[in-house]
Amino acid sequence: MMGMTKDMKKEDPQKKQPIYLYLVIFFVVILLNAYIFPAISEKSIKEVDYGTFLKMVDDENVDEVIMNQNFIEFTSTSENDELKYKTGVIDDPGLVDRLHKANVKFTKTIPKENSPILTFILSWIVPIIIFLFIGQLLMRRIGTGGTGNALTFGKSNARVYVEAEVGKSFDDVAGQDEAKEALLEIVKFLHSPQNFKEIGAKMPKGVLLVGPPGTGKTLIAKALAGESKVPFFSISGSEFVEMFVGTGAARVRDLFKQAEEKAPCIVFIDELDAIGKRRGIGGIQGGNDEREQTLNQLLSEMDGFDADKGILILAATNRPEVLDKALLRPGRFDRRIPVELPDLTARKAILKVHVRDVKLAEDVDLHEIAKMLPGASGADLANIVNEGALRAVKFGRKAVTQEDLEESIEVVIAGYPRKNKVLQKNDKWTVAYHEVGHALVAAKQSHSAPVHKITIVPRTSGSLGYTLQVEETDQVLMSKEQMLNKITTLMGGRAAEELVFNRITSGAANDIEQATKIARTMVTRYGMSDNFGMMALETVKNPYLGEDTTLLVAPDTASKIDEEVQMTIKTCYDKALEMIKDNEGKLHEIAEYLFEEETITGKKFMEKLND
Ligand code: ADP
Ligand code: MG
Ligand code: ZN
Repeated sequence: MMGMTKDMKKEDPQKKQPIYLYLVIFFVVILLNAYIFPAISEKSIKEVDYGTFLKMVDDENVDEVIMNQNFIEFTSTSENDELKYKTGVIDDPGLVDRLHKANVKFTKTIPKENSPILTFILSWIVPIIIFLFIGQLLMRRIGTGGTGNALTFGKSNARVYVEAEVGKSFDDVAGQDEAKEALLEIVKFLHSPQNFKEIGAKMPKGVLLVGPPGTGKTLIAKALAGESKVPFFSISGSEFVEMFVGTGAARVRDLFKQAEEKAPCIVFIDELDAIGKRRGIGGIQGGNDEREQTLNQLLSEMDGFDADKGILILAATNRPEVLDKALLRPGRFDRRIPVELPDLTARKAILKVHVRDVKLAEDVDLHEIAKMLPGASGADLANIVNEGALRAVKFGRKAVTQEDLEESIEVVIAGYPRKNKVLQKNDKWTVAYHEVGHALVAAKQSHSAPVHKITIVPRTSGSLGYTLQVEETDQVLMSKEQMLNKITTLMGGRAAEELVFNRITSGAANDIEQATKIARTMVTRYGMSDNFGMMALETVKNPYLGEDTTLLVAPDTASKIDEEVQMTIKTCYDKALEMIKDNEGKLHEIAEYLFEEETITGKKFMEKLND
């Protein structure tokens, strides 16, 4: 993944690292010298308690005493005693007298490790360097443009880019033609506002890219930086709102000041929702004050400049529903450009972009790969190509094969195969029948996607096996019949288990969850139940992010919904069980084959089913 900041950073903080590294190593070496080495060289020291020491002194057994800060070293008078002795220091004012009386030579040393230079370095220079180091890190986080100077505090950390530095163009963005076209249109205005003014057309000040994560919003903005040939400021919403109160607003002010100087130009605010969230929601603690100030500043800056000045504010978000309404008013982000998940053609095109620098084997069919990935985002596709390439390297191949790519799809869907997880025979049989149950039901229904693969190799995601179905074409609309068929297919696994073993296992948990979700949306959102008809019972909070919904109904209606969902699933289950019973012979035959082979391709499965 290519984060904006990572790719586009102008100065390179890496260059500063080695100096710190040397300093750290330098001081570690000094510390080693001071503490460790003396200890090593004093191996032949015997530790005794203070009482023993005093006794030896009184017995005139002690020859010489060296008093260190933390311990006392002494040698014995006896000729055959080569040892050095050591004991702790105790506050003992009578000791000197005692030593004197016993005729012992004694000295007090200034300990080696306390040499003034070292003390100075340890107590002054090291802390200062650590302090500077931490300060640098903090400054970089606060984003003072990397100068590390506290005086630039509050300056915008948006960086100016020219096309060459970014190195992305619209060729790197596959699909998304509407978005590209709309943006180029606006860029035209930046270059020749006259043509537009003559007719009296006003260009939008703000353009908002909205769409699910990973669809290429940030990428499109980067590419626009390359295409537009005007200065391009880029900043992420989260960079505005950082540690200290007041810096966000100051940064917005500074950003717009810089932009005005450089106009015509484009200001890109990625992840706008980080500052643009509706004001006044979320909190007693007042933790949002900072964000609100930043947002207010942004709003007033956008009002403050004339569109004729040639500043285009481009922003991106995947959470348009949380944005403050004021941001979406005319004169602010009044133009929305949707950046949607790619369809089949676009997925193929995106794959093509990402395999440009990858060596592909003859057998690779990108169309087939694209078909297997309905609902995948551009980021997912990029990821799959990379996984495939890594796999090819792992197996020592010179080029990426179709198998590599298909396997990497499965890795993305289900995780890596678990080599060391061997199923008990019992469980393996259950999983084999379960999966073949799914596949049989899928194959025996008319409106359901063909089976592409069945496998019972355990995966790191925890899945013990799965049946992969691949639609021939991308479908936008699903009929009621298709949805019911899907639920029935999901029921097929459990139905097979019940028929064959007359007992059921926990293996169907995921199937049940998915089936319930489908049945529920059919009732609450798609108007596909007889009881409720076309009544909206739920709304979706964010069209781009998952299943987060709000129930719109009274509590007793909610329990009726549950009944309806339950009914739907029950009917489908019965249907699945019926189908399995009708094909019991095939079920056994194919399950036994799967048990042995662990993986069956869709083609092989259909052959076995039809012969
Ligand atoms: P977003 O900002 O919408 O969350 P990104 O722009 O960060 O998504 O996309 C992440 C990565 O996915 C891109 O760097 C690119 O490698 C890939 N990608 C996404 N969409 C496309 C596309 N339309 N064409 C080519 N690559 C794409
Ligand atoms: Mg992004
Ligand atoms: Zn299942």
